[in-house]
Amino acid sequence: MRLILLGPPGAGKGTQAQRLVQKHRIVQLSTGEMLRAAVAAQTPVGLQAKDIMASGSLVPDEIVIGIISDRLDQPDMKNGFILDGFPRTVPQAAALDELLKKKHIKLDAVVELRVNESALLDRVETRVAEMRARGEEVRIDDTPEVLSKRLANYRTLTEPLIHYYSERRKLLTVDGMMTIEHVTREINRILSAIGAVEPKGAKAAAPAKKAAAAARKTAKPAGKKAAKTAKKAPKAAPKGKKAASRVARKAAAAAKGRGTAMAKKVAKKTPAKASKKVTKKRAKR
Ligand code: AMP
Repeated sequence: MRLILLGPPGAGKGTQAQRLVQKHRIVQLSTGEMLRAAVAAQTPVGLQAKDIMASGSLVPDEIVIGIISDRLDQPDMKNGFILDGFPRTVPQAAALDELLKKKHIKLDAVVELRVNESALLDRVETRVAEMRARGEEVRIDDTPEVLSKRLANYRTLTEPLIHYYSERRKLLTVDGMMTIEHVTREINRILSAIGAVEPKGAKAAAPAKKAAAAARKTAKPAGKKAAKTAKKAPKAAPKGKKAASRVARKAAAAAKGRGTAMAKKVAKKTPAKASKKVTKKRAKR
């Protein structure tokens, strides 16, 4: 599984990335973490990045692109990865596209954690308090002043990536205001829906991948309407067609996570189509 986690500071990217790492045995690539390590080790990159990071600005694109490019060549990338904090600008995203193309790596999805900005300061304050309680060193850029600059940077430089990946039909939006547990569950649900993870009973789920692929073609950021429509989508195919009903749920889930008219159609159409296929297959046997 190869993912990008997108969201402002305090959205919970780090927490969710760790959970995905544990569940799917993939590697988390956090450019923030790597840069902090470089600062601590006083490497040339660290020395260059130190003051920039402390002020809440972004480190130059070439530096982070170089870090990611090197990292993607490591053997532990084989199982998959989650990019957390990269890309953060459109040029970084374009460079990543090139890198992945060159290395023959396919990105499964970009998961956007959408949160109310008003909650972010509280969240970062909580993070600081928790780190202090654990006796950990607090990040120097986790102050209200620097946070507001990081947020402003997110709005102007990183938010355009939502459009970038939505256009490329990679974007999945999750409500990041739910509890950590709920967000995790929702991320796993939509990743199963698009076929990025093997759902339970992987064999029967093969048609779900097709439905998911159709849903992917229509990917757009999720909206309230889409979620409502997805809820209204037919719940199951006719009795006895378990696989088809599973497809229906996956497609509805995909529509909920994406939300265009086409995705909704996919969610509605899939059960009948899928059940026909299942019936045909059974007839052949
Ligand atoms: P983070 O831990 O993701 O919040 O990142 C902490 C800081 O590292 C950011 O405020 C930036 O200064 C720097 N940084 C991390 N990732 C990137 C990136 N992809 N591009 C530029 N700067 C970055």
